[in-house]
Amino acid sequence: MTSKIKIILKSGKEQSLKRFHPWVFSGAIKVIGGSPAEGDLVDVYSNKDEFLGTGHYAGGSIAVRILSFEPVHDIRRVLMDRIMAAFEYRKKIGLVDNVDTNTFRLVNAEGDGMPGLVIDYYNGTVVIQFHSVGMSREKEIITEGLVNALGKRLVTIIDRSESTLPGKFAPEIKAENLIQGRGSRYEVIENGNRFIVDLKEGQKTGFYIDQRENRKLLGTLSSGRSVLNLFGYTGGFSIYAIKGGAKMVHTVDSSAPAVDIAIQNVQLNFGEKISHKAFCEDVSAFLQNTRDTYDLIVSDPPAFAKHQRALDNALLGYKRLNARIFEIIRPGGIVFTFSCSQVVSRDNFRKSVFAAAANANRKVKIIFQLTQPPDHPVSIYHPEGEYLKGLVLYVE
Ligand code: SAH
Repeated sequence: MTSKIKIILKSGKEQSLKRFHPWVFSGAIKVIGGSPAEGDLVDVYSNKDEFLGTGHYAGGSIAVRILSFEPVHDIRRVLMDRIMAAFEYRKKIGLVDNVDTNTFRLVNAEGDGMPGLVIDYYNGTVVIQFHSVGMSREKEIITEGLVNALGKRLVTIIDRSESTLPGKFAPEIKAENLIQGRGSRYEVIENGNRFIVDLKEGQKTGFYIDQRENRKLLGTLSSGRSVLNLFGYTGGFSIYAIKGGAKMVHTVDSSAPAVDIAIQNVQLNFGEKISHKAFCEDVSAFLQNTRDTYDLIVSDPPAFAKHQRALDNALLGYKRLNARIFEIIRPGGIVFTFSCSQVVSRDNFRKSVFAAAANANRKVKIIFQLTQPPDHPVSIYHPEGEYLKGLVLYVE
C-alpha cells in the first residue's frame, strides 16, 4: 500500500504536525500532488520534503485528519492495533466487565488516535458514528477490530452515521446493523442505575455517556433538595438526584420520545411513589412560566455553537439561560451548568456565566469545575477534544 497522493505544506505550517496535532487545515497546503477523492489516504510532507504523517483527505476546511505520524504501510494493522489499545485502556480504568456500569465510550476520535471515529459500548451492542468519510471507508476493518477486541462480549454493531457524514456520503438506511444480534432498545446500567436506551431512535448514539461522573457528583449534593433538570433527555441527572434523596425532581426536555423514556426510567428504578414530574416543553418557555422554586438546577443544553462564527450568539445564549436560572434559584441553591460546544472555551463559558450572575445580581461561588470522563480522553496535543465544560455553583 504505497503510492499515496502526496500533500506538501507551506513553509512553517509543519510545526503543529510536528507537535502531533492531527488536523491539516486547507490554508496550510501548498501543493496537492494529484486529485484525491474524499476519504483517500494521503501522505503529508513539509516544504522541505520531510514526512509528517498519513491521514484521511477531506474536502473541507480540515483537509487532512492524521492517523499516524509514522508512514502507514498497512492501514488494517494500524486500526486493529488502535482499537485494541482503546479497549485495553478502558479495561485499565475499570470500565470493562464492570457490573455497576456496562456502558462506556470505547473510541473517542482524536483522544484515541482515531480522528473521525466515535464508538460507544452498550452492554454488548456497539454503536458507531463516523464523522469523516475517510473513517467510514474503513468500516470493514473497524468491524473486524471490534470483533477482535471485544470477543464474546460483542453482540451487535449498529452504524448511526446518518446525521454525522456529509449528505451524499451518509448511509441511506438509518441505523444500519453491521452485525445482527439483538434489538436496539433495552436496559443498561450506569453506576448501579438502570436506564432504557434506544440505540436506533435515540439522540447521538442513544445516551449521553459523557455525563456519567457529573451525574454521580450531583447525586451526592441532592439530599433534601427540590431539583430542576433542564434539557434532561431521558432523565440521567434526575435518576441520580432521586437516588441521592431529592425531595422533588422536575425534568424538562422538548423531545417527546426522550421525556417518555425519562418517565419509564424513573419507574424502572423507583416504582410509582416518587415525586417526579416530566415536562415536554421548551426550556425558555418553562423558565418564563414556572412558579415553582428550586434549590438545585441542572442545565445541560445541546451545543449552542457548532462553528466558530456562531460563537458570539452562543455566548449570549449561555448568558441568558444562566441569568434566568440565577433569578429563580433559592438562596443556598446549587447550579450545575454545562456547555458541550467544542468552539466555546472553558474561559469563554465561565465569562458568560459570570455575566449572567452579575446580571441577576446574585453572589455565586464556583465549587467544582467539571469535564468529560476518562472514557472520553483528550489528546494533550489536541485541546479541541475537550468539548464538555461544566461549573457547579453555590448561589448565596
Ligand atoms: N443532560 C442530558 C443530556 C442533554 S442533551 C443527559 O444527561 O442525558 C440536550 C437535550 O436538550 C436533548 O435531550 C434535547 O432534546 C434537549 N433540547 C434541545 N433544545 C431544547 C429546548 N429548547 N428546550 C428543551 N429541551 C431542549
